[in-house]
Order: sequence, then C-alpha cells, then structure tokens
Amino acid sequence: MRIGLDLDGVIINLMPEILRRWNRDHGTDIKEEDMVLYDSLMELAGSVVYLKVWWKQQVLSGMYLQARLYRGASDFIEELGRKHDIVIITSRLDVLPQVISDTAESLDYYKIPYKELHFIKEKYLVECDVYIEDSPPCIKELWQAHKNVIMPRRPWNQELEYISFNEEDNYKNEDAFDTWEEALDMIEYFSREKETKEAEKERLYGQVSKG
Ligand SMILES: [Mg+2]
Repeated sequence: MRIGLDLDGVIINLMPEILRRWNRDHGTDIKEEDMVLYDSLMELAGSVVYLKVWWKQQVLSGMYLQARLYRGASDFIEELGRKHDIVIITSRLDVLPQVISDTAESLDYYKIPYKELHFIKEKYLVECDVYIEDSPPCIKELWQAHKNVIMPRRPWNQELEYISFNEEDNYKNEDAFDTWEEALDMIEYFSREKETKEAEKERLYGQVSKG
C-alpha cells in the first residue's frame, strides 16, 4: 500500500523544539500539555503576522534540523517500509527553500526510507491508501475526501476523539492510536481489507469476462 505519512506531530516531535524557542524568546514557561488546541501557538502569538515572522526566523535558524523523532518512530518506519511505500506528505509550507533542504537533510539523517516527499497543504490530492496524520484540519479534509486516516493521540487533537463524522451520528474515533504497535495493527487491517476488495473485484471481473 501507499502510506501517506505526515512528519510534524506524527514522527517528528517538533513541539518541544517550538516551545523551547518560544519560551526562550518570550520568557515564558509554556509546556506541551498546554497546547491543547491545534492553533494554540496562534493564540499565544496573538497575530498571524507576528507568528509568521517569528516562525520564519526559527526555520532560518535550523528549527527543522533540531527537532527530534518521537520515541520508537524510527523502528516503526523501518517496519512500515518493509511492506509498504512510504509517501511523506508535509504541509511545511513556508516558501523558504531552506524548508525543503532541511527536511530532506533530517530525513536522511534519521535514515527514513521514503519513496516520495510532497510539500502540500491539500494532502488528499496525493493519492494514498492510508494516511497517518495528527492535525485536526488535515484529518477533517481527508475524511471529507473519503480517505482512510489513522491518528496518533496528541494534546492538540483531542477534539477528534469524539467526532461528528456526518450530520447524523457522533461516534468515537476508533482510528486513534497511542503506540506504534497499534498503528501497525491498524495498517495491517487496512491492508487486509484492500486485499479482500481486490480479490472480490477480480472474482466479479472474472465472472463478467467469462459470461
Ligand atoms: Mg502534523
């Protein structure tokens, strides 16, 4: 399968690096568990313009190179890459060329085995069988495009724990995971489902062509 893998908040633990820099620059002591909203940083900044300027400074001073992987992420990706194609889809959107070079450099540094690397905000446009994504706005967009998504539980995506998927029913988001083992199991499930569907298609097609 093609696995659409997001970076920040999924395998790259960017938040501690953001907060280390934010606290240093603003004399604050904000912790990761305080970031309970997806746009918590925006709330702290108070203005889009200020946030953009500050963010650009951080990118230029190597924020993406200094961010570390989540614990266990390296083994997870290695395991995932054995069976599936890893398609990295990141919305690191800053127009600075350094975003691209620093991203590629850190992926090489961590020996991430990927087939494709996409910088795009509309992630659903990159065709994949399953997406691994932490951001509520991105997940909602993927759902609207009828994509399979699994989500690591993070402080900033708790709002998706109970989600109104359509107007009629609210249900618990079953596709949230706490451990990499759970994530691999979920991907296995989607993989088997795909095989079953393809086998069924083959069977039906065989009947049609014979008939
Ligand atoms: Mg993310």
